[in-house]
Parts: sequence; structure tokens; C-alpha cells
Amino acid sequence: MQHNLLINGKLVAGEGEKVPVYNPATGEVILEIAEATAAQVDAAVEAADRAFDAWSQTTPKTRAECLLKLADAISAQAETLAQLESLNCGKPLHCALGDEIPAVVDVFRFFAGAARCLNGLAAGEYLDGHTSMIRRDPVGVVASIAPWNYPLMMAAWKMAPVLAAGNTVVLKPSEVTPLSTLALGELLAELLPPGVVNIIHGRGGDVGMPLVSHPRVRMVSLTGSIATGRKLVEIASQTMKRTHMELGGKAPVIVLDDANLEEVVAGIRTFGFYNAGQDCTAACRIYAEKGIHDRLVAELGDAVASIRFARKKDADNEIGPLISARQRDRVASFVERALGQPHIERVTGAAVHSGAGFFYQPTLLAGCKQTDEIVQREVFGPVVSVTRFNDAEQVVQWANDSDYGLASSVWTRDLGLAS
Ligand code: NAD
Repeated sequence: MQHNLLINGKLVAGEGEKVPVYNPATGEVILEIAEATAAQVDAAVEAADRAFDAWSQTTPKTRAECLLKLADAISAQAETLAQLESLNCGKPLHCALGDEIPAVVDVFRFFAGAARCLNGLAAGEYLDGHTSMIRRDPVGVVASIAPWNYPLMMAAWKMAPVLAAGNTVVLKPSEVTPLSTLALGELLAELLPPGVVNIIHGRGGDVGMPLVSHPRVRMVSLTGSIATGRKLVEIASQTMKRTHMELGGKAPVIVLDDANLEEVVAGIRTFGFYNAGQDCTAACRIYAEKGIHDRLVAELGDAVASIRFARKKDADNEIGPLISARQRDRVASFVERALGQPHIERVTGAAVHSGAGFFYQPTLLAGCKQTDEIVQREVFGPVVSVTRFNDAEQVVQWANDSDYGLASSVWTRDLGLAS
């Protein structure tokens, strides 16, 4: 298994401290991978900086061709990459292979097209004798930092747009899930000029920090938690770097009395629990109108209890474990605190799975109030709360009363009501 870093077109071993990489489905260590040292972070940024001049002057056609070749190469390696993803995230292989790899390939194809559509806005004669126009120019080296929930999809989103626009990149996958991204390094080394993409491995403080603070980095792009986002924006502001932050979510789901109950239940069973709820758009905060509330809680409870996980045969599973013991314990503590409130009722789940691995039972909690922590804060696990509402105006206020943005949905048969 290739697990070297990619620096200046070469696959090189990390020279820093070794970090264990786990299989969360068993709780066992797969291997240890050495982090990049400060000197290796520096070398990666310098390589990206040197590669920038030539790459930024390639034509959109050349960049699109590179991205299309990458898409084909990933497609040809789909099985191997999906197996690594499944191993490192504990997720069922059919999810990685059927849902995620096709999306990864499509991201590279999409941005191959986008590379050729980077139009400026209309030109104009704003000053006598001069024509003004807007050009879209690449900014330089982008430090891209990814989380652990969909490692390869995140790597694609962190790389493809950056490359399409003519920038170069130093990508740091999450230290918890580096395997598929490091494996991708081998394809990138073959298909791109040296230095255009560099991949380094390591923890946020040791490796992420020196990367985002590096003076040659012109932009910082993070997908991760709000706490990390806050730190990175602060660091980036010191040298006036551009920033791009994709942070947490707490998606509200408003279910009106006239909704098709069967569809609502199937929808929440899927989109509240996919990837064990480790998804920033997970449908995790349900508001049910008084007329449908009791039936929804009963039927959704049965549906959630039927989600298959932790079965011996991987293909039988619908969801995997939490990514780490720490994340599982964090989820457990949210549920424990919620159930410490007398008004919150356990409908199903609410316990750590007793077997091996970092599994937590798919959980439905009812009777939750708007001010409860479980309604306000992102759990990032297989936990969905239900809150009853009587008044449509109030529920829209509740849905918007959140520190997070991202996704939301309204379930009704009446388009007028929905809007
Ligand atoms: P995290 O913020 O702990 O880590 C994300 C990445 O940042 C990792 O690579 C980590 O090593 C790095 N990092 C951490 N501290 C750093 C520092 N001081 N300097 C530089 N890099 C640092 O997040 P996570 O636990 O990996 O992922 C879960 C979070 O990500 C959740 O909050 C979730 O909502 C969010 N997320 C958001 C989206 C989105 O598109 N908005 C998608 C997926 C996940």
C-alpha cells in the first residue's frame, strides 16, 4: 500500500513522528505512518510555489485534459481505492464503491469542464479611451485541509477546483484517514507536473499549522469543524491570506401534517443516518407538526431500529462505525446529557454497540425542545432529535435559530405551504 507523502512529484516517506491509523470497524491499528516534518511541509509549499508559474499559464484545455486523465485513472483504480476507504473509515465497501468513487470521478470531470468556462463579467468603457474588464486569475499556492468523513471525496473537492483555476496545492488529509488520499498520490505523481499537487500527512497542530502559516501560501481552504475554522481564519488573517471555510451543519427537517409519512420516514432513515450521521448535511433536527408528530415518532423509531450495522458480512451493513473511539464517546456523551433532561424520551438506540469497533446504535430522541443542546449543537453521529411544533411561523424561526448553515428541508404535499 502506497503511504508516502507526495512532494515535488516524488513519493517520499514522512520523517516526523509516527501516527497510528485505525480500522474503526475493528478498533485495530492498520499501520503507523510518519508525519511530515516542518522541513517537509516547507519543501511541499516551495515545490507548489515553483510549479505555480508554469501551471498557472497552461491553457484551460491542458488543465481540463489533466483533470480528465485523473478522473479516468481513479475510475480504473475504483476497486482498490474503495477498499482502502472502507478499511480506513470502516464504512461498507458498497458505499465507498457505489456512492463515493463515482462522485469523486465526477468532481474531476465537472471541474475539467469548469476550467474551460472561467469567464469574466462584462467589459465596459468606464474611462474615456480605456476598456476595463474582469479577469479571473489564479491566486497561487492553496493549502487545502480535509476532514475524515469522506476522505477521497474531500480530496477531490479540495483539489479539482484549485487545479482547474490554475493554482497549485498542498493537501493535508485528516491524520485519521490518510490512506486513500496518499494512495491517490501515486496517480497524481504520474499525471501532473512535479509540485502542482503535494500531499502531506500529519496532525493539525504539528503539520496543519505550519502549512497554513507558511508565507508562500496564498489561500487556505478548510473543510472541518468550526473550532478549527476559527483558528485558521485567525492565522490566515495575519498574512492576509484568502480563506474558504466549509464548516459544521445541523440540518433542520420540517415535517408538516400533510406530508407523505412513508416518504418522510424513508428519507430521514437514509439522510439522517448515512455514513453513521458523520455528514455536515445529515437530516438530524426534525420538527414535526402536532398532527403527524406521534405517528412519525413511532414509525421512524421502528425504521431507525432496523438500520443494519456491525454485521459480520460487510455487504449486509447499511452504515459503518464512528471514525474513532473519541468520536464515539463524544456522541455517547451528547446522548447521555440529552437523556438527563426529564422531557427527552429515548425512542430507540442511545447506547454504544457492545462488540468490537467504534459503533454507536442508530438513535432517535423525541420530546426535544428548541433550547436543548441536542437540538442546538452538531453531534456528527447517528443521532436524530424530534421536536413537536404547533405553529408554522414559529417553526421557521426555530429552523433558522442555529449557529450553522448548510442544508434544510420541508416535507409537505403543498408547494404553497412549503414556500
Ligand atoms: P477538524 O476540524 O477536527 O479537522 C479537519 C482538518 O483540520 C483535519 O485535517 C485536521 O488535521 C485539521 N486541523 C485541525 N486543527 C488544525 C490546526 N490547528 N491547523 C491546521 N489544521 C488543523 O474536523 P474533523 O473532526 O476532521 O471533521 C468533522 C467536522 O468537519 C464536523 O464539524 C463537520 O461538520 C465538518 N465538515 C464540514 C463539511 C462541509 O462541507 N461543510 C463536510 C464534512 C465535515
